Amino acid sequence: MSTGRAGPLMLLAVLPAIGVGCSSSPDAAETATETRSFEEDVESRAQRPEDTEVWEPVPAVVTPGQAGAPPSDAIVLFDGSDLSGWSTEDGRDAGWHVEGGAMTVVPGAGNIRTRRGFGDVQLHIEWRTPAEVSGEGQGRGNSGVYFMERYELQVLDSYDNRTYSNGQAGAIYKQHIPLVNASRAPGEWQSYDVVFAAPRFAADGALLSPAYMTVFHNGVLIQNHVALRGPTEYIGEPPYEAHADRVPLLLQDHGNPVSYRNIWARELPRAP
Ligand code: MG
Repeated sequence: MSTGRAGPLMLLAVLPAIGVGCSSSPDAAETATETRSFEEDVESRAQRPEDTEVWEPVPAVVTPGQAGAPPSDAIVLFDGSDLSGWSTEDGRDAGWHVEGGAMTVVPGAGNIRTRRGFGDVQLHIEWRTPAEVSGEGQGRGNSGVYFMERYELQVLDSYDNRTYSNGQAGAIYKQHIPLVNASRAPGEWQSYDVVFAAPRFAADGALLSPAYMTVFHNGVLIQNHVALRGPTEYIGEPPYEAHADRVPLLLQDHGNPVSYRNIWARELPRAP
């Protein structure tokens, strides 16, 4: 048992005993004086408990989902049935394969993106790399979740598959190495839960604030509010360029049949 915890609890237990007195104090008048004195002391303090109680606004009621299912206020981007919320980068219908509640990259069909744009967002997405392992390094189960079509959270089979650390699963590609490797085996479903804050730009295009990402991989924190240095690039580190406040999410066709399911987002209020 922790004595550090017992200390304050014991103090709380002793204080009322002093105030009430009971049989431990034969002098009732003195006990009453002590009680008033204690209460008056509380009353006379500059701050009262209610001074720090904030009642407005009242948070909206949201019904949470079970086991990764969308909460009641989520925007469902893929529920396993169709790709109506998605298109190719040039606006045509997305050509990925939908079966068994999952969508799977059709190599060569191209990247797909959401038909709606997002700024600050909470994203839940489940993904699975092929059970049949082929290729190595960046060629094994490669895909990616791009926020605002530019900022990639890497999807890769990183289960016993060495590559450069800032390019493995859970990396902010070429920018931030994940804190740990929480990968499941190929063929198993995995999840990302992400809090993404969009970058802010001044009217003249100057960067006011970078993008930030916090990422949980299979429930394990792997990116803790990291600041992005700019958009994702294979070669070099390009600077930020101003873009719209809301831009689609994009999933990468990197030539490997990676699958996705249960994708939902919650738009977050844009901080000033
Ligand atoms: Mg990728």
